[in-house]
Amino acid sequence: MSLSNNTSTHLSKVPTHAFAKLPEAEWTVENSSQLYGINNWGNGYFRINKDGNVAVTPKGEKGPSVDLYELTQELQDRGIRIPIMIRFPDIIRERVHLLHACFQKAIADHSYKGSYRGVYPIKVNQQRHLVQELVKFGKEVHLGLECGSKPELLVVLSLMNTPDGVIICNGFKDAEYIETALLAKKIGREIIIVVDRKDELKLITDAAKKLSIKPKIGFRAKLNTQGAGKWVDSAGARSKFGLTAVEIVEGVEFLKKQDMLDCLELLHYHIGSQVPSIQSIKSSLKEAARFYTELHSLGAKLKYIDVGGGLGVDYDGTGWSDSSINYSEQEYANDVVSTLQTLCDEKGVPHPNIVTESGRALVAHHSVLIFNVMGVNNLFKQDPPAPATKQDPAIMQELQYIYEKLTPENINECFNDLMQSKSETLNLFTYGVLNLTQRAWCESMFFAIATKMLSTAQKTPDCEDIVASLRETLCDTYFCNFSVFQSVPDSWAVGQLFPVMPIHNLKNEPCHEATLADLTCDSDGKIEKFIDSESGEVKKTLRVHPFKEGDAPYYLGVFLTGAYQEILGDLHNLFGDTDAVHISLRDSGYTVDHYVPGDTVTEVLTYVQYGRAEMVDSVRQFTEESIANGNLTKQEAKALIKHYEEGLSGYTYLEEME
Ligand SMILES: *Cc1c(COP(=O)(O)O)cnc(C)c1O
Repeated sequence: MSLSNNTSTHLSKVPTHAFAKLPEAEWTVENSSQLYGINNWGNGYFRINKDGNVAVTPKGEKGPSVDLYELTQELQDRGIRIPIMIRFPDIIRERVHLLHACFQKAIADHSYKGSYRGVYPIKVNQQRHLVQELVKFGKEVHLGLECGSKPELLVVLSLMNTPDGVIICNGFKDAEYIETALLAKKIGREIIIVVDRKDELKLITDAAKKLSIKPKIGFRAKLNTQGAGKWVDSAGARSKFGLTAVEIVEGVEFLKKQDMLDCLELLHYHIGSQVPSIQSIKSSLKEAARFYTELHSLGAKLKYIDVGGGLGVDYDGTGWSDSSINYSEQEYANDVVSTLQTLCDEKGVPHPNIVTESGRALVAHHSVLIFNVMGVNNLFKQDPPAPATKQDPAIMQELQYIYEKLTPENINECFNDLMQSKSETLNLFTYGVLNLTQRAWCESMFFAIATKMLSTAQKTPDCEDIVASLRETLCDTYFCNFSVFQSVPDSWAVGQLFPVMPIHNLKNEPCHEATLADLTCDSDGKIEKFIDSESGEVKKTLRVHPFKEGDAPYYLGVFLTGAYQEILGDLHNLFGDTDAVHISLRDSGYTVDHYVPGDTVTEVLTYVQYGRAEMVDSVRQFTEESIANGNLTKQEAKALIKHYEEGLSGYTYLEEME
């Protein structure tokens, strides 16, 4: 490990808190809960049980519970391979019912006259079992579906049969998309085609005339109010979708001329995903409500307002950061209902039925990715190298001196000297003063001193800054059996934070700091954003338990990965889909509802046009040549082909040798 990796010695940048390592007996499950913030972001669905393992509790503490660590082991006993994506449909049921209940309550509390219809935008996670579960759980609450493309419309038509559930058609549309949607009205679906671009309106009226089917039309408004956070660009004058005020007025005129203004039933807008603040939600609502009342005064008697998605998920539990939200689902519902009510009452317009397109908020919580640690690049060094002598360069003698003289009293001075000597070592090497062996000695000594200094600092009052800085310096890299690009792409693509923590051993203090590196050869293939539960800021390292190769498996979980990650995931380095399971909880125990095997190597290779048969045949021919010229025995050829074929049938992730 090169010294140059970690040249930051600015104490001001280092968080000023850090935990001194407690004797093991003093560390409790509560300490772990606090450290990882699980009771904040876990939303009652995840907690640490008395055995020190993460438990999944879809109905809260009093409801059924499954131990995630035991589950992980029992799934492997069944031959399911790690990394595993574990889905909990029970959590989805809770989310669907929660959102519905919040709107029912808001409607009752405000004596609002319209009704509530949720729709789930399938782009958030189109996996078939999941959408089927949503439709099933959504029956009682009339949950509908939203599609944003022609393929998604085809999915929706095959899965949706909820009698009064709404189907919303968004996205770019051609005549075929529109005709399919119109014809689907005839099989009894409440299907609303939203005009996202002005040219689509004529396509819709033409198709309606051709098929003699009366369409239900929505207008998507381009609001001026923007969201906030990572996905702000979905609204505003330059956003990709929606009609400007001018286009809306022209659209109404156009429909009037066609004598079809009564087909205009819905006004839609969407200000972007994961809106962190309720203030943005309210201001966009106000603007949209004005569009709604104005459309009424132009003669369009709309029935629905569709407020889009954006309802956020609290990924870090802080309640105020970019990865969090400063409102609850109930506050969201109250604000939607009361804002619409106030503005409609002012203008004497009937209250619209409310459609929401919350996707993330319904499915983010339900899935967890579990993977194991394969190895560690460990910088903790207990023993110093052989002592420097009088003949060695001065820098070596200085380091030797720091190592020996370090005490609690002079720790500040030693810390500064140590950091100074680090940059000096690099300079001396670059200028040809130190040779490689000497540089290696200096690096070993640096880590030996840092290790000794950390343990001294932990026992010395007022050394929190030094402890934190040394923890970062001595931070390990944990090599993990998963691909960021396949399983948590937003962590890489938009720097999104996901809660990550060990799923077991939480009665013991996790006393190492680590960053997590994945299996890909890409230097971006790592997770380096973690929750700092003390400060609420983001930190670069995760507290973990010590691990060495050969130890019992150490499992980490990435939580709240149910929204967007799977379909955005890619095949970087040819790591494919992971194994996935659907787990339903029973009063005691659980059932495995579905097992969806991950990609085999052969499957992944077919995406890039390799055929298994040709590959095996080609390798076989190479072995024949080598057998012929005596470089390979027939037995070796057989073994090579066997490994090759097994490799092609196998998992793309690392597996234990049988
Ligand atoms: C993506 C999308 C949604 C879903 O947004 P979430 O923030 O996940 O709830 C809803 N409506 C439209 C039009 C979208 O494009």
